[in-house]
Amino acid sequence: SYTIGVDIGGTKIAIGVVDEKGAIHAKTILPTDHTATPTQMVDRIQQAIHGMLMDLGPGKEHVLGIGIGVPGPIDKTKGKFLCPPNLPKWANFAVVDEFQKYFSLPIQFENDANAATLGEKWIGAAKDNRNFVYITISTGIGAGLYINGGLVSGASGNAGEAGHIVIDPGKGTCRCGQKGCFEWVASGTAIARQGSELLGKHVTAKEVFQLYQEGHPAISSLISEIVTYIGMGCVTLINLFDPEKIVIGGGVSEVGEVLFAGIQNYVRQYALSPKGRETAIVPAALRQDTGIIGAAALIFLR
Ligand code: ADP
Ligand code: ZN
Repeated sequence: SYTIGVDIGGTKIAIGVVDEKGAIHAKTILPTDHTATPTQMVDRIQQAIHGMLMDLGPGKEHVLGIGIGVPGPIDKTKGKFLCPPNLPKWANFAVVDEFQKYFSLPIQFENDANAATLGEKWIGAAKDNRNFVYITISTGIGAGLYINGGLVSGASGNAGEAGHIVIDPGKGTCRCGQKGCFEWVASGTAIARQGSELLGKHVTAKEVFQLYQEGHPAISSLISEIVTYIGMGCVTLINLFDPEKIVIGGGVSEVGEVLFAGIQNYVRQYALSPKGRETAIVPAALRQDTGIIGAAALIFLR
């Protein structure tokens, strides 16, 4: 049996036909066309899905459902987008109703970080965990809470917005209006911004980490500050949820050991409980297809 995973993002829409073991049997990437209406985009998505199912042939009748992951915030009970900054035309769009016009299959809908969390539970770094927190450090920071053996969605599907935990109010105003949010100080965008300010020229987050490896002094203190900020975010989540593990994904997690060792060290010092101080901080196992796998997991793990 198959599930359709749909990951709607600001630059691309990834659609996959996924089997019950998490193998992707067909995949389509559509560029997010910002001149098209969301209704037109859903029509393109359903055409892609029907095309992929045709090509697959036998077995296509065993599609269990469609999982949809989208940038938060969302209204989960209404199956609607709220006001995604990177998808302005999709504000208040009832995406689940629109899909239901084409498919009489069960549809599950979550914000993309929550979907990725279920992906890590299903076939990733948290397969054996009943309690873990997933954090994605990418353009922004998002998180998902998998607690007592289930995803914590909250009343409207927006639980786990850890990117807007306040970390350092002295550091300027986040896009949400608060000062010094986790995402404002430690996302890939934030690392690039602060690195560029220090150097007086534009650099990416990846370049900032390269300069760090080369021992650039001003960048070294910036990176140790960033690692501390990520450590603070992790300690807050550990103290709140008592997870067995924190899984970190997203582009910035590609930096690897430099980052993970520093965060582990911070957690070892400051988490409140002795057990909390031992919480494993591990990289996400899923990479380029996180969005599709996470969306498919919404069906397979429900
Ligand atoms: P998206 O936010 O679109 O999901 P990513 O998860 O790839 O995309 O995150 C993009 C951010 O991650 C950018 O700020 C980018 O500079 C940063 N990034 C990507 N790869 C690396 C890397 N190897 N090292 C450090 N930062 C990286
Ligand atoms: Zn914020």
